[in-house]
Amino acid sequence: MQIDLRGVSFTYGQGTQQEKQALKQLDLHVPAGALAAVIGPTGSGKSTLVQLIGGLLRPEEGIIRVGETEVNERSSSLSPLRRHVGIVFQYPEHQLFADTVEHDIAYGPRNRGVPEEEVRNRVKQAMHWVGLPESLSDRSPFQLSGGQMRRVAIAGVLAMLPQVLILDEPTAGLDPAGREALLQRIDRLRRERRMTVLLVSHSMEEVARYAERIFVLHQGRCVLQGSPAEVFADE
Ligand code: ADP
Ligand code: ADP
Repeated sequence: MQIDLRGVSFTYGQGTQQEKQALKQLDLHVPAGALAAVIGPTGSGKSTLVQLIGGLLRPEEGIIRVGETEVNERSSSLSPLRRHVGIVFQYPEHQLFADTVEHDIAYGPRNRGVPEEEVRNRVKQAMHWVGLPESLSDRSPFQLSGGQMRRVAIAGVLAMLPQVLILDEPTAGLDPAGREALLQRIDRLRRERRMTVLLVSHSMEEVARYAERIFVLHQGRCVLQGSPAEVFADE
């Protein structure tokens, strides 16, 4: 599914003393099945952008389109976006909560009323996608290594079968080999499932190898966009 933003603005604390415009008239387009990246310094609006695309915040103006679903400031519900978009937040392992790996990964689809047999299949599939051996299913997620915990958390999002996957600083805290392995898996999965992937990072080096298109945010605006080579040449 494509991601398309037209003239999207968002302001925190509108009408209060602390009013802060986090995004200003942002245009952004990611074609279906592409891997794009958003980079920019802290405070540039990346996490606001993630929450808007994921249907967790309502735009103050402009249009957000994911596939055929369209949301604007007057939309009564943002949940159609939430159905399509899976978000892996920074340090997703902090959101693990269940007694076993299986229960944790199954939580989302069960909550949505997916039939039990399909839930089991999805859990197996998601574990395979992130490279977790099935033998870990009945273990407590809290007994696993850091890298394994992160895989469990990502598998939980993948078990919802999102058409669009957003990863917010997915490799934070991983060693270089772990980073590379995770990004390679995500890229392979994207091709396999024809998912659209948006990587959020503060590191140009990290995303340059995988992203087809890079958007550079600065103070709530997209100040530069293009292929990695174009963006590098301009920096
Ligand atoms: P990034 O993810 O690139 O660090 P954010 O989207 O978190 O950027 O923040 C963009 C701007 O909005 C920053 O100036 C930040 O201080 C402000 N901001 C973010 N969240 C809130 C909030 N809940 N209330 C007020 N201002 C916020
Ligand atoms: P709603 O608009 O009611 O949030 P959703 O279909 O987005 O509807 O979500 C249904 C349920 O699944 C919600 O209770 C939500 O907490 C849960 N859920 C959504 N996304 C995830 C996810 N990535 N991982 C785990 N649970 C999730």
